[in-house]
Amino acid sequence: MTASEIQIHDKLFREYIPENALHDKVVELAGRINIDFAGKEVIFVGVLNGSFIFAADLFRRIKLKARITFIKLASYAGTTSSGEIRELIGWNEDLNGKSVIIIEDIVDTGVTLEHTVDNLIIRNVKEISIVTLLLKPEAYRKNIHIDYVGFEIPNDFVVGYGLDYDGEGRNLPAVYSLVP
Ligand code: 5GP
Repeated sequence: MTASEIQIHDKLFREYIPENALHDKVVELAGRINIDFAGKEVIFVGVLNGSFIFAADLFRRIKLKARITFIKLASYAGTTSSGEIRELIGWNEDLNGKSVIIIEDIVDTGVTLEHTVDNLIIRNVKEISIVTLLLKPEAYRKNIHIDYVGFEIPNDFVVGYGLDYDGEGRNLPAVYSLVP
């Protein structure tokens, strides 16, 4: 195990996106959102658990009149998606007629994202945009356009910066990728 490697439970992970690259990307994404939504009132919807650190870092750089709320979904057991979404904390904000930006930590198959988008559509929001820190293009199976993508990554399991492996690793300041 080298300095850039860490062990979580039974698995070895190697640093993949360093802390400063994450920081620069968050600044860039927030800057683009500030320009694109200038003069608008926006509600951000963070998808817990994984997005909480990205959401906090992004949101504090938003200069718009903005609110943030969170929903909590679960679809993963270990390092594979179960494909079935469970809503652990639901929708409690009135989103009718609002401009909404979904904040995702990572989009893999897109099942979770589709679930979130469907829930916004039935709530009659005015417009839906999506920002995700990470996207796995090879795994993505949906046609929903993702407006802001931080990093496109290979189809490997990652942890850190909010993302976990069986509950651990969320506090790592960088993103780490599973060593096969
Ligand atoms: P999807 O529904 O797009 O297949 O999966 C999205 C959710 O699965 C993410 O919000 C995240 O919770 C989890 N997920 C997908 N890929 C990874 C990964 O590489 N690492 C971790 N820790 N979670 C992932």
